[in-house]
Amino acid sequence: MHRLYENQDISVFWNSDRCRHARRCVTGCPRVFDFARKPWIDLSKDDTQNIWKAIKECPSGALDIVYNHEIIVEMDQDNHRSIALDKDQIIGECDFTEDDDSITIYHTETNREYGGKGIAKRLVYKILEYADRACKKVNSTCSYATKVLEEQ
Ligand code: SF4
Repeated sequence: MHRLYENQDISVFWNSDRCRHARRCVTGCPRVFDFARKPWIDLSKDDTQNIWKAIKECPSGALDIVYNHEIIVEMDQDNHRSIALDKDQIIGECDFTEDDDSITIYHTETNREYGGKGIAKRLVYKILEYADRACKKVNSTCSYATKVLEEQ
């Protein structure tokens, strides 16, 4: 299962398949990470510095974190894509096809000047989360999305 947790400053990626339940995140930042709560990550409960430090202690790589750099990532379901917005300008997108049982990601791209900010991973995770919630299998013919999927 893939989940993307966001606030104004940061985006946190969680890949449950990699989680070894070592609970370092819970110990490091107990108000944010709480397996007894739904959702189990609540970024409003502590400041960015403490969250960042706790995530960097995760031994499995199940958790990852990036700054948002004021870029918003959202689903554009009507057009079968997730999009990244700098104010009202689309600066990245991840495209997919969908049937009753599965989705297939076939393209991920961000404008060159926005590279290195984790935006492409946020775009892919937005779709993985959407697929997880819809109980659909994910396929990929996009090399970048495949790389993210193989992080499992
Ligand atoms: S620190 Fe990482 S491996 Fe451990 S419980 Fe948290 S997410 Fe899972």
